[in-house]
Parts: sequence; structure tokens; C-alpha cells
Amino acid sequence: MVDNSQSQCHIFQEALLNPSTFCISWEQVPGRGAFEKQHQAILEASERAAKGGRVHAISITDGPGGSPAIASTMLGAEIKRKGVEPLVHFALRDANRIAIESLFYGLNSAGVCNLLVISGDFPARDGYDGQAGRVFDLDPTQVLQLIKRMNEGLQYEVMGKTRTLTPTNFFAGVAVSPFKKLEAEVIGQYYKLENKIRAGARFIISQIGFDARKMQEPILWLKQNGHDVPMLANIYVLSYPTARLMNANKIPGCVVTDKLVTQLEAESQAPDKGVAARLLRAAKLYAVARGLGYKGAHIGGHNLSYDNVEYIIDKGEELYPRWQELIPEFEYPQKDGFYLYAKDEKSGLNTGEFAPRPMPVKKPFILRFSRLTHRLFFQPGTLAFKINRRMAAWTDHIVGLKRVFERVESQGKGVLYECLRCGDCSLPDMAYICPVSQCPKGKRLGPCGGSYEGWCEVYPNERQCVWVRVYERLKAYHEEDKIKAFTTPPRNWELWQTSSWFNYFLGRDHTAKRLGIEPPDKVSPKKSGNSQPGTQLKKETAPACAQAKCAHDCPVKGT
Ligand code: SF4
Repeated sequence: MVDNSQSQCHIFQEALLNPSTFCISWEQVPGRGAFEKQHQAILEASERAAKGGRVHAISITDGPGGSPAIASTMLGAEIKRKGVEPLVHFALRDANRIAIESLFYGLNSAGVCNLLVISGDFPARDGYDGQAGRVFDLDPTQVLQLIKRMNEGLQYEVMGKTRTLTPTNFFAGVAVSPFKKLEAEVIGQYYKLENKIRAGARFIISQIGFDARKMQEPILWLKQNGHDVPMLANIYVLSYPTARLMNANKIPGCVVTDKLVTQLEAESQAPDKGVAARLLRAAKLYAVARGLGYKGAHIGGHNLSYDNVEYIIDKGEELYPRWQELIPEFEYPQKDGFYLYAKDEKSGLNTGEFAPRPMPVKKPFILRFSRLTHRLFFQPGTLAFKINRRMAAWTDHIVGLKRVFERVESQGKGVLYECLRCGDCSLPDMAYICPVSQCPKGKRLGPCGGSYEGWCEVYPNERQCVWVRVYERLKAYHEEDKIKAFTTPPRNWELWQTSSWFNYFLGRDHTAKRLGIEPPDKVSPKKSGNSQPGTQLKKETAPACAQAKCAHDCPVKGT
């Protein structure tokens, strides 16, 4: 048995969980190539940080922008050997669940424990010989569930026997983007965060933004929802060129308003091209973040030296006692931007009372038609459901006949929802919008962090983010809370290119499992009192919501 004590890392974790410590992580952005200057610079920065002792973790991004870069997982192990803890960003863009689990074993056995689990930016076009394929097999919420089981000692079946692995000791966190513009985007981020915390997120890092009132929002939300999860503020040392890229939405998830760009342009006229001004801005933001209740600062920026990091910490600590005076310097609201809480005119921050949610709702015909069809033919406990389930059980093994049904389904759903026949349908969870064909990252569990002004990260100003559309539709039925109601399990690829209707009625897909619809062969005829196996549902399997006579595809009331 390998001794896992050497993989003990606690500095970052303890700093975050210790109320008297303000935790510091310093972000490094690896580039392309194995032996490039950037790689060397990151190792030197890690050595400096190890010697300096003010930084609790060196944080390594994972292919920002979706471009190839030296793997954060490998670099993490190297940085650990430099004497400072790594915080490895782990994007889910390029690896399926097998690769993810395998990389985790490699990481932990190399002494790397701190992970920031993110969806990651969509693959860029500059991969080897062009546009890379996307993976996104798992969602951060599902990866957190995997990590939880690995930390408990993952169990798996071998030759009918259950084996339990030595527990790992990951300390995993997530990101949140409070700086979104639209109501649907903002609420979507908090629904998603709720799911991630429920799945075991141990810390949170905010996305890049400079509006103090927005910075306060997640801290208030955590408090109001009783979530004692430490949060690090993203303290980004923003240069004028980078500000212009973020302002033009060229770096997914980061928000820089016109007002801030204008200020940086003026500062860039200075002899030092604005270096002193942006370092001071970062130190002030550090002080504000500390005052707002953040547990740490995630410091980043282009060409930042260790001395710069120390300056930000020292100046930030110096300014912290009068952080409220600095609030007016961080007023960067987006035009018609949505805030979760009402404004406190006196402090310039939030009152803690929810702000009105004026976003108009959408009840397109396709949605009303789909909900009605679902209630008529798919709702457990109804006669139609029993007949369809019996038909499905009967035809399941008659290949020719089954193919006819499959054809009807795929043609119909192809026209209505651009169905790609994944076999594990999410339409009922997502207000009849198909994540496989509509979301470039295939997000079944709430939004990624990349949308901008409601537009999809991958199709800016062309396609709305699917989760903005889902929110608008669910809100029409006061069901928007459904987005946080349950954690959809990882997609079952075994069902790929099979009939989702059959999989649903015969208890094979994730919705059936959530609703307690069991495969016919699992239902004992005696219990159902019907000699025909597989045609009856056990009374108790009918979902709570069905008993509560609410819409089958509305599990909110059941949870
Ligand atoms: S549709 Fe939304 S969730 Fe999907 S990739 Fe685009 S921005 Fe992200």
C-alpha cells in the first residue's frame, strides 16, 4: 500500500479555514511548450513564493481561452517540489470521466491536493491542425461528487466483489461569476453554486470583476443561505490592453466596463504606462474584499512579480481599516445590469433585501405543447403512462417494431428540439431545450461561467445561452428554482443513439431513476398484483410531485 501521508498538503486549506488568516493564492498562467520562458518563470515565481512565505498557494490555470498549454496537473507536481502548495485549475473541457479519475490519482499521489474544478473555456481554434473537439463529459458538480467519494475511499466492483481504494485527500473548490448582467445569468450562477456546495465544494473563487456591490453579492448570498464556505476574491492587476480585451468580451467570464477602460487608458499615459496605478487599484480591491468578508485574495495579472504581490498584500492591509471609504472607487455597474439585492444608497453596497426580478418570461408554443404532451403521455401513475410502459416493455425486444418507434421519436424530436438521440434525455429538466444540440458545452446542470450579456460564450451576439432561455421559460411557471433542485447524474453514454422514450418508460435513463421508475424486470409481479411483469409501477415509486398532483416535470415541489 502506497503511503499517502506524503500527499498531505494543508497550508492553503488551513489558511482558508483559519478565521485569523487572510489566505493568498497567486495565479500563474502556463503557456504552450515544454521548455519555454513562461514555464521557467512560473517555477522561479514558485521558489520566490516559497521563500517569501506570504503566499499560501500558487494557482495554475488550465488552458485559458481553450488553447494548448503545459498541463496544470503536471506543473502542479513540479511546483510542489519548489516548496509551495499548488492550486491546480482543473478544466473539464478535454478529459472524460476515465481520464479525470486517472489524473486525480496521479495528482494526489504526487502530493497535489488543492483543486479548482471548472468547466473551462471552450476549445480554441488554435489546437493542432485546427479546431479541437470538446469533451465536457462531467460537470463541476459531478466532479465534486466524484472527489467526495474518492476522499471517502472510492468503491468499485471487481469480479462481483466490492473493492475500496485508499482515500485521497483533495481540497476542491469552484468558481462563481457574480458579475453577470442579466437576471437569468446572475440567478443561474447562484443556483449552480448551490448545487456545487451541496456536492462538496470546500471553497469558492470569484471571477474577475471590479464592482464592489457585485463583489458583496455572493458573500451576502452565502450568509443568507447558511453556507459557511470560504471565498477568495479575484484581485486581478488589470492593464489597459487586457482591459480592452475583457471589455470586448474576448476573455470569457471577465467583466470590465467602459468606465474602467477609460480610466485605464488615462493611466496608461503615465511614464510607467500605468503600472503604479493598477497595482494600487489591486491593493484597494484587496482591502475592500477583506472588508466585505472574503476569506482571501486570488491575486493575478500579466507579468506580476513576487514583489508586486507583496506590495498588494502590504498596501491592502494598510488600507483595510478604511475599506468603506474606497467603495466609491469601485462603482462599475453595467448598463441595466441586474443585482440580486436592493441597493443601499448610503454605503453604495447592498441592503440584503432581494431586488425585484423584472426579467420577462417566455411561454413559447413548443414549451406549452411539450409540457402538455408530457403530462398526457409521460406522467407516472397515469393510464397513458402504464400503457406506454407496457408497450415499451413488449416492443423492447422486437427489433423491427422498436425501430419504427425509434424512427418516429427521432424524426419528431429532431424537428422539435434538434434531438441528437443521446438516449438520456434532459428535455424535462431544461424546459424542453436540448443541451446536447443547443449548448456547445452540453451543460445539463446549470450554466457555465462564460455567458456575456445573456449570449453564449461560444456564439457571442449570435446565440443566447441555453440556461438564460431555460430560466425565462421556467420562470413563466414559477419553477425557476428547479435549476437547483436536483443534481443530474453524469450522462449515461451506454444509451447513446438509443430511444430515450424506451429508456424512460423502462427505467433506464436518469429521469426515470430520479422518479423511481424501475426497469420492468425489477418490479415483482406479486407486489403489483398484475401477472404481466414490468407493466405496473410499485405504488411507492410514484414521485412525490405526482402524488402532489403537480406537473411531472416539476420536481421542485418534491424536494
Ligand atoms: S449555452 Fe450557456 S452554458 Fe452552454 S456553453 Fe454557452 S454560455 Fe455556456
